Amino acid sequence: MTASIDFEIEDASDGADGSRNEKPRVDFGSGLPVGEAATRAPAEQACDATHGARAGLSLKGGSAMSALAPFPGTAFFHKGQRSPVISAMGKRLVAEGCGKYREGPGPVWTEVDQQSYAAWQRKLKFAGADANGIPGKTSWDRLRVPKAPAAPTPAASGGRVASPVPGKGVTTAYRKKGPHWSLGYHTGADYAAPKGAPCVAVRSGSIVRSGNDGSFGLFLVLRVGGFDFWYCHLSERTVTRGSVKAGDKIGEVGSTGNATGPHLHFEKRPAGGGFGSDVNPTW
Ligand SMILES: [Zn+2]
Repeated sequence: MTASIDFEIEDASDGADGSRNEKPRVDFGSGLPVGEAATRAPAEQACDATHGARAGLSLKGGSAMSALAPFPGTAFFHKGQRSPVISAMGKRLVAEGCGKYREGPGPVWTEVDQQSYAAWQRKLKFAGADANGIPGKTSWDRLRVPKAPAAPTPAASGGRVASPVPGKGVTTAYRKKGPHWSLGYHTGADYAAPKGAPCVAVRSGSIVRSGNDGSFGLFLVLRVGGFDFWYCHLSERTVTRGSVKAGDKIGEVGSTGNATGPHLHFEKRPAGGGFGSDVNPTW
């Protein structure tokens, strides 16, 4: 395989990459996998090879390709398509000086992505319908979009989850004032959810306490570092002792204790802290 930058112009009779939008005419002959090439004719350098080199593109092909996102197909690029690969593409377009973004790039395919990609196609000397901003395989492979890193799982990252009741948000805020709370304010955050909805550990830690309280009903206490997270009004406790990982199910939403309907009362206190020592329940 040659390591040099070495363009070839493809025979006009091929162009079969399944794309109607971008008939590849210019391509690398340096070992990059190109699906559309059937016949080729050698030609002089037609394009901005120096530019590619300046942008730090490795054109040696082969080994690095596994780290690159494969061309997802022309049909992938439609309005509203959401994928981390679109963000990764946008970053590469920006790096190539083709970004038209005011904000972002983001994971959703928009008009601005198309405009930016069209600029990239023009930079590659595509014209007309071949520079309409819808990626084709040739320009995609030349852009060398890195594979988006897989989203870390909570367990793998030792990280955190989005909500103690997956898919549910806060329905009664922390420190809301009201006469029906014994301290005159809400000491936690409530997540209304149907009875039986899973409650998960917001961080990796350990269940240090479990009980049944007149006000809080069935409850669990998850200790993470210097803080306790209280899960209250549960209908079921799945884990009552020992270590858990972020995202592990530890109980189910209920309305035990003093509750008007099924919800999780989620409260944070300094480790070992009593009622009234609550702090903002972030994790
Ligand atoms: Zn509450």
